[in-house]
Amino acid sequence: MKNFGIIVHGGAGKHINKNQAKEGVKVACERGYEILKSGGNAVDAVCAAIVEMENNPYFNAGFGAALTATGGVELDASIMDGKTLRFGAVAAISNFKNPILIARKVMERTDHVLLVGKGAEEFALLEGFKKVNLVSEERLKLYFKILDGEKEEFKKEMSKTLKWIREKYGIFAGSTVGACAVDESGNIVSGTSTGGIFFKLDGRVGDTPCPGCGTYANYACAASATGLGEAIMRVTLTKFVCDKVIEGISPYEACRKGIENLEKLTGGKAGVIAISTNLEFGYYMNTDSMPVAFIRNGYKKVKIEGI
Ligand code: ASP
Repeated sequence: MKNFGIIVHGGAGKHINKNQAKEGVKVACERGYEILKSGGNAVDAVCAAIVEMENNPYFNAGFGAALTATGGVELDASIMDGKTLRFGAVAAISNFKNPILIARKVMERTDHVLLVGKGAEEFALLEGFKKVNLVSEERLKLYFKILDGEKEEFKKEMSKTLKWIREKYGIFAGSTVGACAVDESGNIVSGTSTGGIFFKLDGRVGDTPCPGCGTYANYACAASATGLGEAIMRVTLTKFVCDKVIEGISPYEACRKGIENLEKLTGGKAGVIAISTNLEFGYYMNTDSMPVAFIRNGYKKVKIEGI
């Protein structure tokens, strides 16, 4: 029998509204699984799961994404096919609801790996994507609450204050989304989408669109990471995890080693999920929570863990 399965995450961090987080990853996982069950491919399944979460304002991706230091939205997303090592990504794009679908177009319709900013937005428009407003009321309220509270500090030195705000409020990250799937033909794919860290400087790009950092897949494993991008990038977390699986380690052990290594070397906080071509799942985080949902053929229903 041919096997297939999918695992999704809703970001490493602290999830206060646990029910919303759990329901969000469950529904996304079901969307992806429906595609795999009807013989669809892993790229479609990963995109469907991620689009579901990008459209859900709870998550830090698409509509409702975290705001930058100047109150804007800058999104990063990527997708990778493990069999062919094709990779497509966009970084620092504003006003597009489903960056994962634009990343997919970069992978499928160009010979590039990563498009950023204005060029990426022009490419998206040419491909027929529409501009929309992505700033949610909830995110804006939080933004102004912080700004109001820190008015005096801002007058002193802006860049130091921004750093300090991030440390003080601990909203370094959270609720980024990702999915990894294997289809019945053995294609193995990973994708990740995020608004990045709250109060990031304009132009900051994190791990999500960088190969081997937020997203990676090879013939044996697909992995998607979340958490402090600056730490994930320094240890190329998802490449580390996928390489460990090639060495014969289980996805769970590979994720655990990946996060332990990241913590030891950078002191950062993060989480990672993985699936192997032989349909084993793994995830690990050193944050408070990371909602994870997974299912493969043979399971009666989606399993939800990590929260
Ligand atoms: N990794 C993302 C970034 O640093 C944030 C997150 O996962 O919440 O851009």
